[in-house]
Amino acid sequence: MTRQDPPPPAGGGCRNAPILRQRGQHEVFCGLTGIIWLHRKMPDAFFLVVGSRTCAHLLQSAAGVMIFAEPRFGTAILEETDLAGLADAQEELEREVARLLSRRPDIRRLFLVGSCPSEVIKLDLARAAERLSARHGPAVRVLNYSGSGIETTFTEGEDACLAAMVPDLPETQDRQLLVVGALPDVVEDQALALLDQLGIGPVRVLPARRAGGDLGIGPGTRFALTQPFLGDTHAALERRGAQHVPAPIPFGEEGTTAWLRAVAREFQVDPDRFDAVTEAPRARARRAIAQAAGPLKGRSAFFFPDSQLEIPLARFLARECGMDPLEVSAPYIHKGIVGPDMDLLPPVPVLAEGQDVEKQLDRCRAARPDLTICGLGLANPLEAEGLATKWSIELVFTPVHFYEQAGDLAALFARPLRRRDALQFEAAP
Ligand code: SF4
Repeated sequence: MTRQDPPPPAGGGCRNAPILRQRGQHEVFCGLTGIIWLHRKMPDAFFLVVGSRTCAHLLQSAAGVMIFAEPRFGTAILEETDLAGLADAQEELEREVARLLSRRPDIRRLFLVGSCPSEVIKLDLARAAERLSARHGPAVRVLNYSGSGIETTFTEGEDACLAAMVPDLPETQDRQLLVVGALPDVVEDQALALLDQLGIGPVRVLPARRAGGDLGIGPGTRFALTQPFLGDTHAALERRGAQHVPAPIPFGEEGTTAWLRAVAREFQVDPDRFDAVTEAPRARARRAIAQAAGPLKGRSAFFFPDSQLEIPLARFLARECGMDPLEVSAPYIHKGIVGPDMDLLPPVPVLAEGQDVEKQLDRCRAARPDLTICGLGLANPLEAEGLATKWSIELVFTPVHFYEQAGDLAALFARPLRRRDALQFEAAP
């Protein structure tokens, strides 16, 4: 069984299913949100948002827990004179950066992060980054990307950040595996340990925890994505000659095994060795899922488009937890990335890309799903209407990838249903 790919669902997967494309109003956080998990991943980096007081408030409230720590992100606030074009924002930015770097010699990577206001006044952050790199390099590398909410969803901030790093990496001819996506350190270590036991190496990670390591890119690089929202990074890596190893995202026992198997095939790992390495963690993951997924069996789920994790999560819930997805919507559907998950996702009544929020709310109210996975802004009103919800942003902040987290992933979805079942039990006469 372990030597084979997971069987496709009865009725075939969803790769060629019709997609409802919606281009109306959408309700999502902006790409600045990614700074909250990226700054933990790269302790020698600083994220300087060039934005407004609103951007500063978003960061502070989303990252409230960091208030007592030495901050590794901040906001260079554009005042009204900047926005009106009366002041030279480039000069002010250079002064701010010089002040910051003289105070913080630990900073090795500085990201200038664009926002809605900096885009509206067309502040050229690429030029600023180039000038600042010339001035403060090689000790500090200055890069830029946009976290603006005008065009992005909240996970695109990570994609833009990683894509900005790719052209800057040195060239290498080495045959190597690059694992791409910002995972919590403990999860990344588990994945690296499995790859090591399989005899796959050298393995590098993007983003690297520290600048100036041995990470290079070239035609010998094979890369595997751990997040489905890395479309720009995928394109940037291919431009450098690296080749993608398509695989389901490593959620759940099945997704993790399929991801590892795709990489193992690419690196010609012996199937007996693959089975020997994965057998015990697979069994642990299956047991943990079985323990946590009780409340999910036979219940229906409805995904609003938010994190871009929707398709791989729906695959996990349908195949490993016995749920019945009624609608699966994602902000974008990049088949080059989520195609392998779509091959395994059983046919769903509605598969949608983009959003027209009012129409989608109507569909959700008509469907009355047991569990709705959506952004924070929609969760409270839907709860008030009697629907159980799960905040999609939690799935980005919580360790959910690979075998040892498979039970926690099922438990995250089971919790709102357990709570609702308990409340209904208490309310019963
Ligand atoms: S980048 Fe745009 S959407 Fe995000 S906090 Fe700033 S103003 Fe708001």
